[in-house]
Amino acid sequence: MLEGYLKPRAACPHCGEDMGPLRADDGPAWATILLVGHLVSPAFIIFARPDAADTLGPFLLIAGLVLVLTLLILPRMKGLFMGAIWASRAGDASGAQDNSHR
Ligand SMILES: [Zn+2]
Repeated sequence: MLEGYLKPRAACPHCGEDMGPLRADDGPAWATILLVGHLVSPAFIIFARPDAADTLGPFLLIAGLVLVLTLLILPRMKGLFMGAIWASRAGDASGAQDNSHR
């Protein structure tokens, strides 16, 4: 579905399905923030305490965790949203589109 990190292909290389109408917009970013936020929130409770002796260590750990998880999850969320738009045919609402090959 994607070429490079996040750029959608113009068409499926296998069946030629037009991917133009499968615009995920801000959906993948929203879902990634929601998921990563919930995944790292226990780290705040465990490490980011007011009485913590070290603050730089926990900060770097949590920031690194957020960065790695976000970079891993974002392109997969984009594929998930594009697939859901394709499966629900929500992209068809945008207008004339040839669905004869579906
Ligand atoms: Zn295909």
